[in-house]
Amino acid sequence: MYGDLSLYIPLAIVTLSAVALTLYTAWKRPGEGSYLCEDCKFNSPTDCLKVERPEALICTSYRSVSNQNE
Ligand code: SF4
Repeated sequence: MYGDLSLYIPLAIVTLSAVALTLYTAWKRPGEGSYLCEDCKFNSPTDCLKVERPEALICTSYRSVSNQNE
């Protein structure tokens, strides 16, 4: 019953892959603070009318203040 590793090895591979992917996306996500708005160049009431501001976690309009060329 406990000796059959053929079920546990694929489960361990899938679990470790999911953990690695989660850590990678958390590490590579845009924004430097807790919220995207904290370093977005549109973070003002006149430049951004989105209801998510100033606590957006996902935003397609996000532009980093440190990357003004975009
Ligand atoms: S554009 Fe998006 S990230 Fe930028 S301030 Fe507005 S809601 Fe926040």
